[in-house]
Amino acid sequence: MVVTRFAPSPTGYLHIGGLRTALYSYLWARRNGGVFRLRIEDTDLERNSQEALNAIIEAFNWVGLSYDGEVEYQSKRTEIYKEYINKLLESGNAYKCYMSKEELDELRAKQEVAKQTPRYDGTWRPEDGKTLAEIPAGIEPVIRIKAPTTGTIEFVDGVKGDMKFDASFVDDFVIARSNGMPTYNFVVTIDDMLMNMTDVIRGDDHLSNTPKQIVIYNALGVKHPNFYHVPMINNPEGKKLSKRDGAMDVMDYKREGYLPEALLNFLVRLGWSNKDQEIFSMEDMLNLFDPKNINKSASAYNAEKLLWLNSEYIKNSSNNRLIEELKFFDLDLSDYSKKEEVLNLSKQRANTVVELKKSIEDIINAPESYDESGVNKFIKEDSADILKEYLELLRNNQDKFSNIEDLENITKPFISEKGLKFPQIFQPIRISLTGGTQAPSVYDILFILGFDEVERRIILALEKNFKNS
Ligand code: GLU
Repeated sequence: MVVTRFAPSPTGYLHIGGLRTALYSYLWARRNGGVFRLRIEDTDLERNSQEALNAIIEAFNWVGLSYDGEVEYQSKRTEIYKEYINKLLESGNAYKCYMSKEELDELRAKQEVAKQTPRYDGTWRPEDGKTLAEIPAGIEPVIRIKAPTTGTIEFVDGVKGDMKFDASFVDDFVIARSNGMPTYNFVVTIDDMLMNMTDVIRGDDHLSNTPKQIVIYNALGVKHPNFYHVPMINNPEGKKLSKRDGAMDVMDYKREGYLPEALLNFLVRLGWSNKDQEIFSMEDMLNLFDPKNINKSASAYNAEKLLWLNSEYIKNSSNNRLIEELKFFDLDLSDYSKKEEVLNLSKQRANTVVELKKSIEDIINAPESYDESGVNKFIKEDSADILKEYLELLRNNQDKFSNIEDLENITKPFISEKGLKFPQIFQPIRISLTGGTQAPSVYDILFILGFDEVERRIILALEKNFKNS
């Protein structure tokens, strides 16, 4: 059975790189009918915050990635880690090191002068036939892992291929501090082992931790999981993604009007592909995603693509769904009689839910002002008369408001009989009804608003003579 996890440290909001790792882990577990766990790596008490934790859970709920079982918190598992520290001490795979801070600093300084890589010199490392110094009084020891000193640590990374690290890279690193608290790589390993992780998918910023974790697995005599290190998401210039480029809180995407399925679709493609397919429903992702196909090189964040995907998802969303999304932006269309019509029209052109809201409001709310440049350009001496005559036509044909075709059928002969050019009639109507010249088809707006509202807005525009005071 495949078991994966997402293991964020709650030191800040959940950003899209983290969400992408979570998505990949989630897809791989779900695709295999496996288990996806959420583990909060909150051992760094100074940098953790409850707020960040809430933000992670909130973002998870928003995008709908469900996890199995209870959330595990590392901060609640100290006793478990200590038990395994003791096991390693007992089996001789870890040892107590009484080197004082001063001695360690001195060692580092010497190595620096000799231009050597800083590493532990093995003073307290037990070896056959070696006599250790007497334990100094008043020093609480740290616990070090007894790592191999020669050879290599090798593993096959599911993304990057064969990995080989020189044993000297690992060193006898500390697995518990002098206050007894276990260190990062140790707790990650113990948790992954106890949670029966089969596949660890994480950012490649963790690649250098992996040989250390493998040394711990080996010391415990346990097989390590498969590792997949996912390359970073860069900005379009190939540099580290900054807030400005999109490295923001996942919940900011909601606030900017993105749909979660568009964001997930965007993220799945940032670092993974299936031929030239761009649109992936959750079902597609679950059928197709395989971490072995994760790209080997970093991917570039592409804001336009995200917008495009979002517009596709908005267009294809049901109106009921969009009504729910719009409520988040304080627009409640539930009781609006022409909600279907206005949504069918507006969702064709909106890149975000924020834009959707604006385009709906531009139609359903009477204009508060008239666009000056539009007025200057399109309102001519004869405009008022044309509008009055057209309004008269509409008044005599109120039964034609029940469908768009009928509205077209009465308008077209009017235009040709009067010998009008389209902008001569349509722009004054647009300006009267919406305040601007950019609105969609006039027939759509007439149809959505209905005769009474159309009449009210045209009369008002004529009374004000398209002026804003
Ligand atoms: N807690 C680590 C992070 O937030 C992830 C560790 C892991 O996936 O092994 O980056």
